[in-house]
Amino acid sequence: MAFEGLSERLQKALSGLRRKGKVSEQDVRDTMREIRLALLEADVNFGVVKDFVKNVREKALGAEVLDSLTPAQQIIKIVNDELTKTMGEAAVPLNKSAHIPTVIMMVGLQGAGKTTTVGKLSKYLMDNEKARPLLIAADVYRPAAIDQLKVIGDQLNVPVFDMGTDTDPVEIVRQGLAQAALQKNDYVLIDTAGRLQIDEQLMTELANIKDLAHPDEILLVVDSMTGQAATDVAKGFNERLDITGVVLTKLDGDTRGGAALSIRAVTGKPIKFVGQGEKMDALDVFYPDRMANRILGMGDMMTLIDKAQKNYDEKQAQEVADKIKENTFDFNDFIDQMDQVSNMGSMDEIMKMIPGFANNPAMKNFHVDPKDIAHQKAIVYSMTPQERENPDLLNPSRRRRISAGSGVPIVKVNQMIKQFNQAKKMMNQMYKGNFSGMEGMMGN
Ligand code: GDP
Repeated sequence: MAFEGLSERLQKALSGLRRKGKVSEQDVRDTMREIRLALLEADVNFGVVKDFVKNVREKALGAEVLDSLTPAQQIIKIVNDELTKTMGEAAVPLNKSAHIPTVIMMVGLQGAGKTTTVGKLSKYLMDNEKARPLLIAADVYRPAAIDQLKVIGDQLNVPVFDMGTDTDPVEIVRQGLAQAALQKNDYVLIDTAGRLQIDEQLMTELANIKDLAHPDEILLVVDSMTGQAATDVAKGFNERLDITGVVLTKLDGDTRGGAALSIRAVTGKPIKFVGQGEKMDALDVFYPDRMANRILGMGDMMTLIDKAQKNYDEKQAQEVADKIKENTFDFNDFIDQMDQVSNMGSMDEIMKMIPGFANNPAMKNFHVDPKDIAHQKAIVYSMTPQERENPDLLNPSRRRRISAGSGVPIVKVNQMIKQFNQAKKMMNQMYKGNFSGMEGMMGN
């Protein structure tokens, strides 16, 4: 889980304050020391940590905070705002050209996720703008890179322009752009070569491609797992190529957070997207405020809502709401909902976005085993249509039949039916505005 250590330490430092009614200057200094250590341990750039701590301390020590009725909450807000500011305030959209095509050049070290991100970004543009992109394969040093891009192109149904490995990359880009002009592609994404580390020959080649293609966007792809090194790489590329933005990949891994928190401050260039998985749809716009909320365990309801909106249509949502209200939510709806939710990502990731879940110690080891989901589905699929529509029919002999049919032990069948009934009751009560028993899950 990304940012786990940082998240835990920051929350621990701040919860110490939260327990106190009155907060003294010494309390603030102690908390700041904890925060400083947490950031350094997360591999955040030293200069960034220094500025961060200085800014928070100055604001937190102000009389209007310490003398207020809710000093701890105010300090938490100051930390949240500063985290957001460090990562760039607001999301920065892609630069677009006034004329087609918009040219996006992808650069980065080998293994950072460049080729994968070219695919993800073209899918993103197709899904969100109905774009017709052309991909140019200009990494001629790693023969597999061209094949990899072609496989991705086939998978997404996007054309890939390549000239094999024997032509100069600048010439490939020149001819690729000519083809895009002929075919009236609205976006051109150039996959360039990477190296294990920054070297002069590579930089010269990239600078030559830049001079020829005049890209609207030079996106540097960096691996967030490499922490401080990612920040140094970003600095190097930026000095030479004047990049326009960063894509931070592998945020689904257990990255400590250093890159996400340092890159903007060190390079002055925004993180525009984050990669959160190997699949083609695992690319998200980077929202600094949402990321700050996530780091502080305040959940990420906005991202959850975005994902839900993408996967649900309004009519369906209304139908489900009506069923919950009328208490007629049945096992068919249950399966539908389960499929919709699994389209949104892994259950563990989704739950962590819910405020209250994210920083609830009882939920720390919360884990949904995909096997359990498969079992639940098998149980429902072994029910007759009548049973699915009317769960009250499920007497012991029917349950035994379902257990035999699904291959799931009877104990688990009983447990799942019980949970279904409880959840149904809870949803119905929530719908009626009765949140009793739920307060522990909300907010703090
Ligand atoms: P390139 O050398 O920069 O073109 O890197 P690739 O696109 O070949 O990616 C290197 C490896 O990282 C591949 O195995 C990708 O599947 C993987 N990868 C890329 N982005 C992500 C991501 O956001 N999350 C995860 N988990 N893996 C990624």
